[in-house]
Amino acid sequence: MPYSYDDQNIFAKILRGEIPNKTVLETEHSLAFEDINPQAPQHVLVIPKGHYVTYDHFAAEATDAEIVDYTRAIGAVCRKLGVTLEDGTGYRLLTNAGPDGHQEVPHLHIHVFAGGFLGRMIK
Ligand code: 5GP
Repeated sequence: MPYSYDDQNIFAKILRGEIPNKTVLETEHSLAFEDINPQAPQHVLVIPKGHYVTYDHFAAEATDAEIVDYTRAIGAVCRKLGVTLEDGTGYRLLTNAGPDGHQEVPHLHIHVFAGGFLGRMIK
């Protein structure tokens, strides 16, 4: 079944500039901003600007240029936060998909958690 994208989701509104965000980094095809309810000392969301619901949707339908941009943007966020192993002590990337993954916002986002020891992820 094809994905249907709800353009009234909160990240679509952020991309349209209808609600504010604390931007960490912006590229041609990606936007990174601080999570409104941080679950770690540093908690950034990285989203593609295109209308993709989940990671698998993005991987299947995004252009090569979007995939390269998004992949590099996530790494650039880690460098900007100073948490790579060259500059810091690490980070965690996570994406939730669908009801079983407890995805709240139906626009692909990768969480970047960092800023302290994150402990073991149980699930
Ligand atoms: P999910 O559960 O879908 O993986 O994560 C959604 C994330 O979006 C949550 O961490 C939540 O705090 C964040 N979030 C929800 N609404 C807003 C908002 O309006 N602005 C920002 N910056 N983050 C939001």
